[in-house]
Amino acid sequence: MIGGPILGWCGEENLRSDWVYFVIWFHYWHDFVSSELHPMSENIEKFALRVLLVEDEQKIADFVCAGLESRGFFVEHARTGHQGLEWAKHNSYDFIVLDIMLPGRDGLSVLKELRANKIATPVILLTARNELGDRLSGLELGADDYMAKPFFVEELVARLNVLRRRILGAPHDLIQFGSLRLDLVSRKLAYDQQEVELTAREFALLEYLMRAPNQLFSRAQILEHVWGYDFDPTTNVVDVCVKRIRSKMSMLVGTKDLSACIDSVRGVGYRFQP
Ligand code: CA
Repeated sequence: MIGGPILGWCGEENLRSDWVYFVIWFHYWHDFVSSELHPMSENIEKFALRVLLVEDEQKIADFVCAGLESRGFFVEHARTGHQGLEWAKHNSYDFIVLDIMLPGRDGLSVLKELRANKIATPVILLTARNELGDRLSGLELGADDYMAKPFFVEELVARLNVLRRRILGAPHDLIQFGSLRLDLVSRKLAYDQQEVELTAREFALLEYLMRAPNQLFSRAQILEHVWGYDFDPTTNVVDVCVKRIRSKMSMLVGTKDLSACIDSVRGVGYRFQP
């Protein structure tokens, strides 16, 4: 949806009028209605990436949250540097979008603390326009990119996708082990010339496991990453989803039973073993 109409923008400068807010509101109202009409749209399916937004200005936060969520990101919004730092230390995020100008602890101080604590989550800084010094300091402290306000949310999405490819290691939009391939564009699982379709959850779960082969993930970790919010720990949705994936993998005829690639460790969780 990056190529969609560019109607919204945001910034801390006082350039906005009620009309601009109406346009932004209409844009997301339209997205929302479209999503309701087309529940299987690409936007709805791309929900696996978790973003921590640290931004004190509520209107900007609302704008960014709506823009990212309408494109399938899961966003958590921290309102202060201290809160953002605590959340980043205790939760797992794919990206952090970090405003520099925050009350109390500023964004650069948060970034410095994150890196000092060996938290390597990719960070995009939000900087005021023309603040070259802030940008340079941010990059030196370990930021991965920056956005100068005001910006189009489409550009933020594009930069997150670039970082995703660069850092998560999917240069060809493919995760491959031998003849077994998970295509991140068509979102299908393939073996040689055979393909099976996966639902959005099945795809997200399998992608999560396949990105870290042989690493054991607990049900709680899988729930948090794939479903994106707290579930009753006794829920069996992970097991049900794995069962469906295995069933689909067994439809692919290979030199071995491919469903065995997902190994279950009793009482703990699952891992992908190519
Ligand atoms: Ca701010």
